[in-house]
Amino acid sequence: MHHLNCVKIVTPMHDDVIGHCLLIEEDDHLLLIDTGVGVKDVESPNERIGNELIELAGFQFDMEITAFQQIQKLGLNPAHVKDCIVSHLDADHTGGLADFPNATVHVSAEELINFYSDNPRYIESHLDHNPTIKEYGISDEQWFGFEARKVKSSLKTEIYLIPLFGHTLGHCGIAVEWEGKWFFHIGDAYYLRAELEDEQNPVGQLAEARADDNTRRLESMEKIKTLMKEHPEIEVFGYHDRGEFAKYSVESPMVS
Ligand SMILES: [Zn+2]
Repeated sequence: MHHLNCVKIVTPMHDDVIGHCLLIEEDDHLLLIDTGVGVKDVESPNERIGNELIELAGFQFDMEITAFQQIQKLGLNPAHVKDCIVSHLDADHTGGLADFPNATVHVSAEELINFYSDNPRYIESHLDHNPTIKEYGISDEQWFGFEARKVKSSLKTEIYLIPLFGHTLGHCGIAVEWEGKWFFHIGDAYYLRAELEDEQNPVGQLAEARADDNTRRLESMEKIKTLMKEHPEIEVFGYHDRGEFAKYSVESPMVS
């Protein structure tokens, strides 16, 4: 399992927002969880993302942070990425999908409906390459008290989409069992772990403003808090928190 940072976002509030993607390597197969900014985004940002969203979100473009280049740097073949799982379909999570055109995209059914509902938050060009999409609807299975949707990928590794709705209407976390341990990537259920402890955290206001359903977002955060308390053995981390990423990566920590 490799932890890759595939996003660079600079905002007035935070000048070092990242995108914590996971690359799972199993024999010759690669699976990517969230995909960050892609090669095509770096090549033609205005066409792919549009100036308005670039300015609003604070996207920075750098070929070196794309998952595609980082996979090559690891000595692996990007063509071996057979599956991409996405927590949700916001542009900072989907940009890399087009770099792996033969990979199946795994996403919740609710998220796909939201994506094609003219919700202005999404960038439809990120699915213009027409990938094979596997969507996952409501399930009876459970994972530590959460509804769990088993991902049917080409890997043997056990992976579930875990509904954590609110940020978007179909936003999910991704639970991965790796070497006897559970890793729970909670996507954008929080932006910064500090939000769990401090309801007044200013990032919480941004998260509220960006949420499709803020009540459900707060419910999802409560469930994550309970899980962390009851199961400290589970590795829980989000997409945008540099501090959490530093724990798993060899990249040097943020210099403040
Ligand atoms: Zn995000």
